[in-house]
Amino acid sequence: MELEDINTIAVLGAGNMGHGIAEVAALAGYDVTLRDINEEFVRNGYEQIEWSVGKLAEKDQISDDLADATLERITPLVDVEEAVADVDVVIEAVPEKMDIKKEVYGEVEQYAPDHAIFATNTSSLSITELSEVTDRPERFCGMHFFNPPIRMPLVEVISGAHTDEETLDVIEALAEDVDKSPVRVHKDSPGFIVNRVLVPLMNEAAWMVYEDEATVAEIDSTAKFDMGLPMGLFELTDQVGLDVGLHVQEYMHETLGDAYAPCPMTEEKVEAEELGKKTGKGVYDYEDGDGVQIPTDEGKEWIADRLLAVMADEVAQLIDDDVAGPDAIDEAMKLGAGFPDGPAKMADGRGLSELLEALEDAYEKTDAARHEPSEALRTFADEGNFYGDDDDEETDGYDYEDIAVEIDGRVANLVIDRPHRMNTITTDMINEIDDALDSLVDDEDVRAILLTGAEDRAFSAGFDASTAAAGSGIEAADLSRLGQRVFGRLEEIPMPVLAAIDGYCLGGGMELATCADMRIASERSQFGQPEHNLGLIPGWGGTQRLKHVVGEGRAKEIIFTARNDYEPETMYDYGFVNEVVSTEEFEDRAWEFARDLAAGPPIAMEFSKRAMLAGRDDTDAGLALEASSFGHLFTTDDLWEGLSAFQSDRDPEFEGK
Ligand code: NAD
Repeated sequence: MELEDINTIAVLGAGNMGHGIAEVAALAGYDVTLRDINEEFVRNGYEQIEWSVGKLAEKDQISDDLADATLERITPLVDVEEAVADVDVVIEAVPEKMDIKKEVYGEVEQYAPDHAIFATNTSSLSITELSEVTDRPERFCGMHFFNPPIRMPLVEVISGAHTDEETLDVIEALAEDVDKSPVRVHKDSPGFIVNRVLVPLMNEAAWMVYEDEATVAEIDSTAKFDMGLPMGLFELTDQVGLDVGLHVQEYMHETLGDAYAPCPMTEEKVEAEELGKKTGKGVYDYEDGDGVQIPTDEGKEWIADRLLAVMADEVAQLIDDDVAGPDAIDEAMKLGAGFPDGPAKMADGRGLSELLEALEDAYEKTDAARHEPSEALRTFADEGNFYGDDDDEETDGYDYEDIAVEIDGRVANLVIDRPHRMNTITTDMINEIDDALDSLVDDEDVRAILLTGAEDRAFSAGFDASTAAAGSGIEAADLSRLGQRVFGRLEEIPMPVLAAIDGYCLGGGMELATCADMRIASERSQFGQPEHNLGLIPGWGGTQRLKHVVGEGRAKEIIFTARNDYEPETMYDYGFVNEVVSTEEFEDRAWEFARDLAAGPPIAMEFSKRAMLAGRDDTDAGLALEASSFGHLFTTDDLWEGLSAFQSDRDPEFEGK
């Protein structure tokens, strides 16, 4: 089966996950049957979809027409036969109990067409075991969405022992088609990737408190402010729910052994119904206390090492067991857990032998199975690191981490590629943009650059301050100078740069867009320089360059009011945005605009850009450059090509000569 053969999808279970998966699939244009065991449950699920789709339309993230069409595509049903009789894929999201799931598959098998693929959203159960209930184990795999599916970009696509390659390829393509980012997991090992790394990490945090090694404040301060994780580990524990976490821990304990034994503190809290945010009390007290309170300065280096070491050990085992490679693990943790950097990269950065030593020290002290370093970690520490020994930055051939560069015809699409963090900008990203510009300037085929954000909610939401907290080792003033210089290169390079803004364009993201030659924006975009709200100022050229685009009065207004909700129409009136386009037509129009720019005469483009920049603060210098450039252009072939095309009423073919 190919992706094109998928038209109809059945989602079984209209609970938390099921309704979200149905929504995501219908939004992408699939016909969906949504099944639950009674009218009330299936109605509830449908109503939640109605609510969520309504919100998206209200916030202009989708059009009213798309909202209506999405709801029309979903058929809520109780009858199993009707739900699956005519579908191409079944995604199952019924409760996490082996016997319930097995019963469901037994029933579904009777009515589903032979060609249909079965995909389970299980978080932990054995996919191989489930697949064996059916007569199509080769067309059975895991498709693990994260909660809530509408917002979380990651889908782990998991192979059972019998799954064939074609099934994995199609489900991966389906995940992409519903606007998610799939990561392939080669084996259905407990916890797959994200839970396998995250759950032992949260468990270790609990044990450290239980055994009086560290306090909640010290651990959360370390995780959030020193390691740059999106939240404190206890904050996360409370958000996930202690019962949910414990359930996975118990499963991992059962299947993977004593190293995963849950901390008694968690068990006691679950026993006492202190389940986290949802019950008003977990590790933090949300009702009688102040909720989550994390000091910024109580972090300890040894705690960071311990936590990183625990993750490194899981990463080592995942790679060693062939469950996934370091890049897939890092990608999954960034998309599924909002990590600023993946654990493999973080561990390599710290040094695997240092981390191994941290674990050995802990083992000596506690004698606990969870601190006994795995053979896999020892081997990797011996060999150097997870990513292999070559330290070459993989920047040749346009291979980057935080950006992506794709060349289509004469247009290079430079993508700000951190969708898991709203495309926020990091120091590494700025360096990558610098490298990418080096390559693009040298590439004779590239005649225009189209600058975009990797997903539809953000061009870039600004600077990712958590990556600075993670200890990038760069002084703030140097960071400012780096961004000023690299963003400024967009103004200096010979080819025209078009920023296509769809979603948030804030802070550093807006400063980057300011350096493009032109900007177009979708109707749902939002602009602003909110730095003053933090007691900061725009540090990547914003105090200087914005005024050349919108005039000093408007620039001051934008910076001083620190609003983050400027609408595209307003920015059009201010002259910042050259065109506002409906969200549906946006991508096509952006490419059309970029291709038009790329068709222009390269030398004339370069000279105009240069003369305008030179004259920005010094009109005489600009005029001088204009005159000498004008003279030079009369010696080029492109001029004669332009003239003869004009005379014979055809499009010119400029060669840059
Ligand atoms: P839930 O309890 O919210 O929803 C399950 C739904 O399935 C309920 O509405 C229930 O009535 C229905 N159901 C029970 N038997 C059924 C049957 N025979 N046919 C159709 N529907 C049936 O649970 P959930 O949180 O949505 O979890 C569903 C699955 O997704 C589980 O496997 C879980 O591990 C997995 N998952 C959950 C999360 C999460 O954060 N909640 C994240 C990823 C994966």
